[in-house]
Amino acid sequence: MLDPAEHVSEPAPGRACGACTLCCKVYDVPSLEKPAGTWCRHCKPGRGCGIHETRPTHCRSFHCLWMTQAWLGPEWKPDRAKMVLSVDPATQFLFVQVDPGVPNAWRGAPYYGHLKQWASGAVARGRHVVVFLNKSATVILPDRDVPLGPLGPGDRIVTSGPASGPVFEIRRAAA
Ligand code: SF4
Ligand code: SF4
Repeated sequence: MLDPAEHVSEPAPGRACGACTLCCKVYDVPSLEKPAGTWCRHCKPGRGCGIHETRPTHCRSFHCLWMTQAWLGPEWKPDRAKMVLSVDPATQFLFVQVDPGVPNAWRGAPYYGHLKQWASGAVARGRHVVVFLNKSATVILPDRDVPLGPLGPGDRIVTSGPASGPVFEIRRAAA
């Protein structure tokens, strides 16, 4: 069970990026003016970072959830899943950043079933599972998926209604 309270920032024993470099594609890196969804100009896909010793702090401190959570199976390794999991430190929402080269990866088995299962647990805690395709967000709820469109800097995902109940609304609140 995914519990953000147990989120750690160090790699789990035995976990290593290996040939995966997907985080160097799917996220934006402001200090490099790299937009989400395009390879970083320093990345050697499948091999690693071309400026490893001098890479930005932003890159240095990042470990995806597959790296830190030993219970996530091999199917969740980002270069196999074609998506990168992380926990948003501000909201404790689970963010799923999908490789735009395989935009429907999250809809396939076994991933969609897991996302739905995690969404049920997250809603009970007032949190959400959010799939991103570049900046475009879709909130996964136990009973439906809610596409919100692109989220800008400072935009928030707002829930109204009883978060633990079966009926509530999700919307984007502009910054
Ligand atoms: S997505 Fe995770 S496993 Fe892949 S390179 Fe980044 S930190 Fe390593
Ligand atoms: S600087 Fe290196 S670690 Fe950072 S996004 Fe680019 S290739 Fe990846």
